[in-house]
Amino acid sequence: MAKRFRDEYVYAPMLEGRDVLHSLLHPRRKRPGLHANTQIPKFTGYQRIYELTGERDFNTAALNFWRIVVEHYSYGIGGNSAREHFVAPDKWEESIRHPAGPESCNTYNMLKLTAGLFRCDPQPEFVEFYERAMFNHALSTVNPRTGGRIYFTALCPMAYRTSDPGSTLCCGFTVMEMHFLAHEMIYAHTSDQLWVSRLDPVHGEPMHFRTRNLVRPADVTLKPFFEMADERYSAYLPAMNEASWGMEQTRRDKLAATQLTVFMASHTMR
Ligand SMILES: [Zn+2]
Repeated sequence: MAKRFRDEYVYAPMLEGRDVLHSLLHPRRKRPGLHANTQIPKFTGYQRIYELTGERDFNTAALNFWRIVVEHYSYGIGGNSAREHFVAPDKWEESIRHPAGPESCNTYNMLKLTAGLFRCDPQPEFVEFYERAMFNHALSTVNPRTGGRIYFTALCPMAYRTSDPGSTLCCGFTVMEMHFLAHEMIYAHTSDQLWVSRLDPVHGEPMHFRTRNLVRPADVTLKPFFEMADERYSAYLPAMNEASWGMEQTRRDKLAATQLTVFMASHTMR
């Protein structure tokens, strides 16, 4: 039944990896730029069909769509669209002028699509986008003082956002649901593997996060940049598995032994 709702108009080009989101003129629309949130749920559906049936084409179309939207239509906050429509790809200076910037519903559905793609193929690019869109757009779509929900997040200079506690717009209801996604995608596992995609907040210290069994030789606390702007800092966190960590530990032990030898040798020479 779900397959019968397939919209060949966007499905076919996305299956081939062709970006038509701005160029395609929909029969009922005279101007270019498809309505963004009409397209995104189609692809969450195609991804789900793949998950249930294993028909790979549905996943290919969903993945191509996700890549095109994330790489060519999404702003730094992870959101997309102006006036609810896809604007010309990679034309940031043009699209950022719209006061009706990224719509909350779009990001909500992109998060759902991202989670679905990750379930089938746990790649870092999915959790990276999820984190970016969750922290920079999704979590900011509600006014914590009034409970008002936000429709558009304008990105243009001097813009402001309005939130409405009684909103009956699409985003009014989407945002209510969106905040239940905040606890999702923190970690995922199979019987023998674990993926951690976020960090634990440090109790009583806003914007401080602590890794948990993630960093060797010891977990680290990450603090906001403004607290350490005048300090020296460096952070290199190479990704390793248990085997490569074992080799790294051996290398460090050898290095430590060498340093001790050199130290002792220099003392002996004196
Ligand atoms: Zn909406």
